[in-house]
Amino acid sequence: MNTEELLERLAAIDDSASADRAPARLKSKIYSALVSRLTETGPLLSLEAIRQSGAQLCVFEKVVTALPAGEQIGSTNPCRICHARVLGERLQWAPVFWPGCPYSEFHND
Ligand SMILES: [Zn+2]
Repeated sequence: MNTEELLERLAAIDDSASADRAPARLKSKIYSALVSRLTETGPLLSLEAIRQSGAQLCVFEKVVTALPAGEQIGSTNPCRICHARVLGERLQWAPVFWPGCPYSEFHND
């Protein structure tokens, strides 16, 4: 098979074949591991800094940033606040539906 044939075969694959996609639980665990790895080299950005950069925060993270002590809490691991990580890593179809949460996106895409 040459390169052009390979590309044509890849292009012929449509999204209906997405049943073979990675399970949401696995995506959640990988995301958690990556975030955990990032914290080994230093603190994560504060939620306020993330918000100011234009990135979407989890609805619960937005609430925390509005609190007077939010900046202290804001340097913790994302989604430890909304606890979606706990459900997202253990359940295949976790009932997390709030916008802006990566775990919710893994389980609802
Ligand atoms: Zn979250």
